Amino acid sequence: MTDSGTGSTQYDRPEHLGDETLTFYQRLKAGWANADAIAFDDGVVTLTYGELDAATGRAASALLAQGLEPGDRICLAMQKSLAQIVVLLGALRAGLVVLPLNPDSPAEVVADQISRTAPVLLIGEREDGWRSRTESGPAAVPRCLDADPARPHDPLHATDHTDPDRFSVDDEAGAIILFTSGSTGRPKAVIHSHGALFANTDALRIIWDIGASDRLLHVLPTTHAHGLIVAPMPILLAGGTVVLRPRFDPGDAVAWLPRVTCFMGVPFYYGQLLQHPQFTAGAARQLRLAICGSAPILPEVREQVEDRLGLPLLERYGMTETLIMTANSPARNRAGSVGLPLPGWSLRIRSLVTHETAPPQEIGDVEARGPLALPSYLDDWAETARKTAPDDFFRTGDVGWVDTDGFLHITGRADDLIIYAGLNIQPSEVEAALVAINGVVDVCVFGVPHPHAGQAVMAAVVSAAGTTLTPAAIRAELIGKLPATKIPKRVYVVSTLPRNTMGKLRRDLLRKAFEHGTL
Ligand code: AMP
Repeated sequence: MTDSGTGSTQYDRPEHLGDETLTFYQRLKAGWANADAIAFDDGVVTLTYGELDAATGRAASALLAQGLEPGDRICLAMQKSLAQIVVLLGALRAGLVVLPLNPDSPAEVVADQISRTAPVLLIGEREDGWRSRTESGPAAVPRCLDADPARPHDPLHATDHTDPDRFSVDDEAGAIILFTSGSTGRPKAVIHSHGALFANTDALRIIWDIGASDRLLHVLPTTHAHGLIVAPMPILLAGGTVVLRPRFDPGDAVAWLPRVTCFMGVPFYYGQLLQHPQFTAGAARQLRLAICGSAPILPEVREQVEDRLGLPLLERYGMTETLIMTANSPARNRAGSVGLPLPGWSLRIRSLVTHETAPPQEIGDVEARGPLALPSYLDDWAETARKTAPDDFFRTGDVGWVDTDGFLHITGRADDLIIYAGLNIQPSEVEAALVAINGVVDVCVFGVPHPHAGQAVMAAVVSAAGTTLTPAAIRAELIGKLPATKIPKRVYVVSTLPRNTMGKLRRDLLRKAFEHGTL
């Protein structure tokens, strides 16, 4: 077994942040050298680091005054706002375990997440009517607390001002519960510890060289690891500024672009930004980090973004379960790869054929091991066992290869692999050929059951406005560019492709919609 963690940056943990008895919040705070520097700016209100610390102290006191103790679980059902972040950080400061819940989730999702995590308190916004929704049934929560999103300095109306830091927790104590997106089955709950949050945040700060002068444009949802942890926390650890916008809107994003140094998005956002004429190098004149992740980006989109911005688009790779495992950085970037293992991480590829560790360049199952024990699924020991190799490598469920310099390349999810007459077909390969056709703007390739061949390759394609591409013309374009076995048996021209809130393609929905297409 060989680890291919070559090129991994030396991990120099700063001494003042090394105390393992501090909460994640206390470790963030240790980096705040200037109390007057702006931590958050939402376009209307700003919070300096001094104000943020006072606000999270009030929130922590208000929560502890409810009789809560470290380790108690709470559900945070607030919309994205400064107030939501203040409550989150206040709860982490008090040692509570936070389940961030999207208040717009369907009732059955709310009931599922609450019944499986059993929070003792739910924090909602008064207007949302959480009290009646959580009084009884599977979504019942013992208590509700109203938060006021209009009062980021004191969203919980604290009346108790006792010491918010009176409890301490250690590195392994739970901090945040996240649910996986569940596009390949029932969503799974994962608890991240204070230590895991800190290790990932600090590693990203180091490799992206984030400092106090950085300003991040934050447009991601704050209920997924990307928007909740990966994007804002390295900036807060470095004492920089998070410009917090309520949601992604291309017009709003380009209006803020001239005032920021970092942008983090999912491929879908970059595709949308390309449609905007003001998404230019001129607008992005202060930008030094353009980062992309959470889903595969089409090479064409990446290249166009790089041409427009005059900057490399740095891809990074992670999962709800592991947080970030690999990343490109300005110093070590390889286009088309998702980067090198983060400090403390090792990777290996298992051959799809022999299941042994594969040499560089060979495609196989991606497995990774981090600096800390991987989190287990909250209520699914069988799945935890299935995903964890005996030597603690995590079976990511992704397929990819490592090049001779140690950069990881992801080719897709193992579940999305199409097996046609015994032949493994990566949807990404067929998608790359489809998107190269003039007039094709978005694609999704998926497998459906085939009576003789096991599975058949199918494609859903979105064409550019004003073009009249037909399925037959698209298939004809692929002849000679792909082997006949990889040319989709059916091509559907559709107006949009189904995506989740992170802009990720929902291949499962297309599979379901077109499952009888070959019969
Ligand atoms: P989630 O748990 O929702 O963050 O989804 C994690 C999955 O997203 C990974 O297992 C990958 O399949 C995919 N993913 C994340 N980042 C990338 C990336 N940069 N390129 C390709 N796929 C990615």
